[in-house]
Amino acid sequence: MSLFASIEMAPRDPILGLTEQFNADPNPNKVNLGVGVYYDDNGKLPLLACVAAAEKQMVEAPKARGYLPIDGIAQYDKAVQGLVFGAESEAVKSGRVATVQAVGGTGGLKIGADFLKRLSPSAKVLISDPSWENHRALFTNAGFAVEAYPYYDAERRGVDVDGMLAALKAAPAGTVVVLHACCHNPTGYDITPAQWDKVVAVVKGNNLVAFLDMAYQGFGQGIAEDGAVIQQFLAAGIDFFVSTSFSKSFSLYGERVGALSVVCESAEEASRVLSQLKIVIRTNYSNPPTHGAQVVATVLTTPELRRMWEEELSGMRARIKLMRTALVEKLAAAGVKGDLSYITRQQGMFSYSGLNKDQMVRLRNEFGVYGIDSGRICVAALNSRNIDAVVSAIAKVA
Ligand code: PMP
Repeated sequence: MSLFASIEMAPRDPILGLTEQFNADPNPNKVNLGVGVYYDDNGKLPLLACVAAAEKQMVEAPKARGYLPIDGIAQYDKAVQGLVFGAESEAVKSGRVATVQAVGGTGGLKIGADFLKRLSPSAKVLISDPSWENHRALFTNAGFAVEAYPYYDAERRGVDVDGMLAALKAAPAGTVVVLHACCHNPTGYDITPAQWDKVVAVVKGNNLVAFLDMAYQGFGQGIAEDGAVIQQFLAAGIDFFVSTSFSKSFSLYGERVGALSVVCESAEEASRVLSQLKIVIRTNYSNPPTHGAQVVATVLTTPELRRMWEEELSGMRARIKLMRTALVEKLAAAGVKGDLSYITRQQGMFSYSGLNKDQMVRLRNEFGVYGIDSGRICVAALNSRNIDAVVSAIAKVA
């Protein structure tokens, strides 16, 4: 008998499965809003000019590709710290933040999860309900029991902050709480700075371990505004984790550029934490790849390229906002009733449209408009050419 005779077929990734279905659809007017990717107004994945410029510099002065240090390019790690915490922040200046380059934001989460499992093997992990679907799988595979705290309030179209706070208050000390720093995936609803203050207070008061997932910095209000929550956690004087992804903000999805930062009490503690993070990395993939992180480090540390990046990121953010406003106006004009302002209250790439599974299936089967069954659509995949078709389809199923 074959070694693999009893291996079961794993379920298909729901989102990738949807893309396969989309690709096979012969409808010439089909629109894929199922993805988690930013497309420009021509429906193309952008290559940012700052990235092309950094790559040009790199090609003109080619370097041999030795192994990187286990924790990645030092200049990159430092640039990440500057971006996430502020180069002048006390935490960074005093050396009490341990930062490692990671294979995308997912890699940052995974390094953190494996480290936490060694640190507190019996801790529970809480993720938002709903959350990015990989959060549950990733922490479960790292060996944790994963539960959810209330987040989405379907009736009020927003966040159930009271439910969230109550769940955090009820969590035992040491519970790891995964929080979306900004641009919540999948709902698009974020909490306000004042509500964050309450979350920070409960995390601190209850000795919970905050793990902030920052995959969309710059896609909400701006780089600093979206990162403000980090300052609130720093101000509380507690230890916490931050995973960073540059997949979206640099449109470098395939380069897998991310990081994990752990804020510690002292520089001495950070060096011990760093030594353990390196073991996690070493025993998984030894050391990270060179190209993407070098591009990001070059852009972040070259003033002219950095300005370009901030402008391009701001352009992506503005285009998403434009699509949100257009969606509201066009849906209303197409006769969709009710208060649609929730669409512009949401931030980032996604919108929980409020459409149910039957409606999402109809959108797909009858109109070639592909979103997730949960009602999530990617606003960043709308453009001036496909929005009318999407609106008229939604108006027919709403
Ligand atoms: N966290 C969240 C909330 C995400 O939406 C994503 C990407 N879709 C990630 C992490 C992973 O980012 P990356 O692609 O850089 O691994």
